[in-house]
Amino acid sequence: MIIVINGKTSNAHVEKVIQRLHEMGHEVDISRGERRIVLGVIGDVKNLTSVPFYAFDGVEEVIRVEKPYKLASKEFKSSTTTIKIKNVAIGGKEVVIMAGPCVVENEKQIFETAQKVKAAGAKILRGGAFKPRTSPYSFQGLEEEGLKLLAQAGAETGLLVVTEVMSANQIELVGKYTDIFQVGARNMQNFVLLKELGKVNKPVLLKRGMSATIEELLLSAEYILSEGNKKVILCERGIRTFENYTRNTLDLSAIPAIKELSHLPVIVDPSHATGRWRLVSPMAKAAIAAGADGLIIEVHPNPEVSFSDGAQSLNFKHFEDLILEVKQIAQAVGRSVD
Ligand code: PEP
Ligand code: MN
Repeated sequence: MIIVINGKTSNAHVEKVIQRLHEMGHEVDISRGERRIVLGVIGDVKNLTSVPFYAFDGVEEVIRVEKPYKLASKEFKSSTTTIKIKNVAIGGKEVVIMAGPCVVENEKQIFETAQKVKAAGAKILRGGAFKPRTSPYSFQGLEEEGLKLLAQAGAETGLLVVTEVMSANQIELVGKYTDIFQVGARNMQNFVLLKELGKVNKPVLLKRGMSATIEELLLSAEYILSEGNKKVILCERGIRTFENYTRNTLDLSAIPAIKELSHLPVIVDPSHATGRWRLVSPMAKAAIAAGADGLIIEVHPNPEVSFSDGAQSLNFKHFEDLILEVKQIAQAVGRSVD
């Protein structure tokens, strides 16, 4: 960390800053110029996050050289993380496809979808049982009944399952049925939930909040990692911008940016990113071309009657076509789908 102090500041005031740094356990490298005094703070500066340096007389600028997150960073771990769950590896050479309905509606819907997405090449079945709906009057999910159906459909087809957990007190219940906990965009900064998920021994799919920066996403991942759970998968699912033709704006550049900053795998959700099924396949291909480790895609037997997110859901035929196209892109960038 570098602290720049105005050169006209009295020695007593400069000393106050230095003293505070010493008190916090840091050595300080001081360079005195005519116009400014520059303090270089050596060592791990995590404990300085809450020190209000701008409140000290003469302090003009505080520059953080270090990233505010550690365990999620490339500096901490330079090799990419591969998360293995049974026979599936996320973050390796293979691009992993997760697919299924927005919400589990009934036995027929989830079993039929599981069979079709499996046949097309998906490895993980998605489906919400607890749904974070914008309106309290929208369908909220089948809860435990939905979890059971999802787990049964996964077991029957040999697919792993991923489903959303909305609060810390649901972890035990959801954990009985799921292979991967999904944290939704609206809960990316539910720190109580993140800390509790840091104590479980199952992977967490952490979706980017709709107005969260990349740094905030990585800090949320840090909450989980710092409690001991090293299995975090990041998910770019579009952010809110002024554009309203699409439901969100898919931040494709977040994929290579996160890959530069972090060792964690990154997957992309082109369904929630666009809100329009016709745009899902082009954005899925773009995501793989940009380096994503996988996709999570909403698929429904008949999107027209879907309880939730029908406009962005693919039918089986469209999903099969998407997989074929994604396979070609994956190959072109040195990856594979199967
Ligand atoms: C979902 O995956 O169904 C979902 C609600 O996604 P998000 O949290 O990204 O909005
Ligand atoms: Mn949805």
